[in-house]
Amino acid sequence: MDAIFRKAAGLPNPPAATPSGRPTQAEAEAAVSTLLRWIGENPEREGLIDTPRRVAKAYLEMFGGYAQSPVEELGTTFEEVAGFDDMVVMRDIQFYSHCEHHMVPIIGKAHVGYLPDGRVVGLSKIARVVDIFAQRLQTQEALTAQIANTIQEVLNPRGVAIVIEAEHMCMAMRGIKKQGSRTLTSTFTGAYRDNAEEQVRFMSMIRDPGKL
Ligand code: ZN
Repeated sequence: MDAIFRKAAGLPNPPAATPSGRPTQAEAEAAVSTLLRWIGENPEREGLIDTPRRVAKAYLEMFGGYAQSPVEELGTTFEEVAGFDDMVVMRDIQFYSHCEHHMVPIIGKAHVGYLPDGRVVGLSKIARVVDIFAQRLQTQEALTAQIANTIQEVLNPRGVAIVIEAEHMCMAMRGIKKQGSRTLTSTFTGAYRDNAEEQVRFMSMIRDPGKL
């Protein structure tokens, strides 16, 4: 990924990697075995024999966002839209992420809006960008900013609006154990940042089903 886009998306540059290179799958499985023993389990018992392998495989899938580029995902599919310059909103994009502090799930929805400047991108591409960033270790604040900044940099619309609402399992399952509380974050760029009226229009579109 281009350095400028990594910076725009709030990503570390160069991409995160352990100094000694990437561990092997056998090393990853051994680490899972260690954690099983750490919690008081016996990794040798029948039900757990395949667990380290399954967990390593599941991690590749749940954290598949590290192997994918949201910039490339967005970058090839512009469509010219003569005459259409009003906002495009995708609401309720479900995502599953993991918090970078405890590596437990963050489950939520992203609402993404932008004001096209002559071109739009396929709607599925927007959802893919959400997924790619979600499939990395995250804070909700960083996830929100990364999605906004990437769409702004690559598509260069007149503005991008992102609202994310999510439940953090690390707050529900451990620590203060508050179930059902949702965290809301937002990022606005361009015309959404500078024009309160555009923000209000976006917020009313994601709130009121009657308008969509
Ligand atoms: Zn956490």
